[in-house]
Amino acid sequence: MTDQQRQQLLARKAELMSRRTAIHKDLAHETRPLETGGEDQAVSHNNDDVLDGLDLAARDEIDRINLALERIDNGTYTRCSSCGKSINPERLQAVPDSTLCINCASE
Ligand SMILES: [Zn+2]
Repeated sequence: MTDQQRQQLLARKAELMSRRTAIHKDLAHETRPLETGGEDQAVSHNNDDVLDGLDLAARDEIDRINLALERIDNGTYTRCSSCGKSINPERLQAVPDSTLCINCASE
């Protein structure tokens, strides 16, 4: 069952990495001509902040996915990193990058 999770995590990671590539392109203004004029620049600057936020969120998720993949490799994927008990398989299916059992996560 961890094989299925690994595929799911790798697919998600690939998706996030291509999203980050797109974000970086956008931030570098490669995909659209740089707009001129004060008002447009303000809008464009706000947009960059949003993109930065999205990039950061994607990077965080990639970090969590890498951790989950590591846990699969060393056989601790289904074990709660806090209390050491088994994580409910249904929970791992719903949240594949989870490292905590439902009890520890809700604390
Ligand atoms: Zn726990």
